[in-house]
Amino acid sequence: MATIKAVRGTRDLLPPDTTLWNHVEATARSVFARYGFGEIRTPVFEVTELFARGVGEETDIVSKEMYTWEDRGRAESDRGQSLTLRPENTAGVVRAYIEHGMTDTGMLQKLFYIGPQFRRERPQRGRYRQFWQIGAEVLGPPWSGSDSALRDAEVLEMLATLLTELGIRGWRLALNSVGSAEDRQRYSAALRDALEPVKHKLCEDNQRRAETNPLRVLDSKDPGDQEIINGLPKISEFWSDDSRAHFDQVKAALDACSVPYVEDPRLVRGLDYYTRTTFEFTVGGGSGLGTQNALLGGGRYDGLSEMLGGPKAPGIGFAIGEDRLILTLQAQAEETEAAKLDAFVAPMGVAQNPAALKLAQELRRAGLGVEVGDGNWRLKKSFETADKLARKMIIVGEDEVNSGIFTVKDFSQGEQAKLARTELVGALKS
Ligand code: AMP
Repeated sequence: MATIKAVRGTRDLLPPDTTLWNHVEATARSVFARYGFGEIRTPVFEVTELFARGVGEETDIVSKEMYTWEDRGRAESDRGQSLTLRPENTAGVVRAYIEHGMTDTGMLQKLFYIGPQFRRERPQRGRYRQFWQIGAEVLGPPWSGSDSALRDAEVLEMLATLLTELGIRGWRLALNSVGSAEDRQRYSAALRDALEPVKHKLCEDNQRRAETNPLRVLDSKDPGDQEIINGLPKISEFWSDDSRAHFDQVKAALDACSVPYVEDPRLVRGLDYYTRTTFEFTVGGGSGLGTQNALLGGGRYDGLSEMLGGPKAPGIGFAIGEDRLILTLQAQAEETEAAKLDAFVAPMGVAQNPAALKLAQELRRAGLGVEVGDGNWRLKKSFETADKLARKMIIVGEDEVNSGIFTVKDFSQGEQAKLARTELVGALKS
């Protein structure tokens, strides 16, 4: 009988990996608690309209990625209701905020969540159809101070603390402001005008976006379209004085807390609800993420509560891709280990074992970290072990022993060089 497999784009999390998942979640909970956040757990499915209104009909998420079905309830009231597995959690949190009258407390609400989200995306490394997000939202009525730039900076500083405590290396914070809803509208119109004469040169997806959601054209990674995109007007030209002042305050508070950031005028993010501050944290090479290098994203959404029929309740939040956080931690841990040894000395046959050991002795005495293989091993095993343990491999065959010229393979560069014995130490140290 055919076996049954997990659905494409979903995966099982197994030990020992789950130990790391639990560690990441425990660290997040501990950091969130120190900043005064409480946990919220919303249902995994909601009525479809929540996402249509909260995320935006024109977004890729709503227009093509949602798992939506019509309910087959017995009661007249649920029959035929359109339901959707949540593709993100902000809309659910804001719905709950409204439903439970949290605005009436007059207090700033600081809420965090950890849970699975669902999007029908093309699966690849770091991109799944069921994936986990760790997120948080700060929201409240305007008189609670929820629209203050201080909160944007606090959230960003908390994220920097979390990533540092988790031991993520080489993260980069890209920061922008998409202005108020009015600034954004004027900007969208200007983009549409600027795109009109050139849009036939864009890729098909961008041609569609140029009409439906021109801001999304800026998010596009299509290499052929970059020249046009780089020539488009910048959102900063459309900021009102208030928007500019708000953004300046966010940056001043980040500077005071020594949180490094890079301004990125093209960072607009896909979801419709963002206003003012938007941000994204990425990790560079060695993250194990390849092209999916966005670890987390977020921003301010001052009008979302009203879009969902609630009171005025400005807010700011973020969602971390937990799967990507874990992949990065695993890749960086491997990198640390791999960096332990400078070289792997590989004798090609038993006859070269003594010469290999002698070479390893010399290199070790020169202060290098070295492992030595065994001429009894098959070539494939020597290569695989060397790749796992060391940055470079030195091949010790009969020719090498006789000539004193060694073949050195550099795994990170994928290059090979011939070096004299006297050159080895210098080359391995560099
Ligand atoms: P978004 O809700 O689109 O702003 O995404 C926030 C973060 O969630 C991203 O930066 C990713 O780290 C993560 N994420 C989004 N979509 C996926 C996916 N399909 N698979 C894994 N992680 C994802």
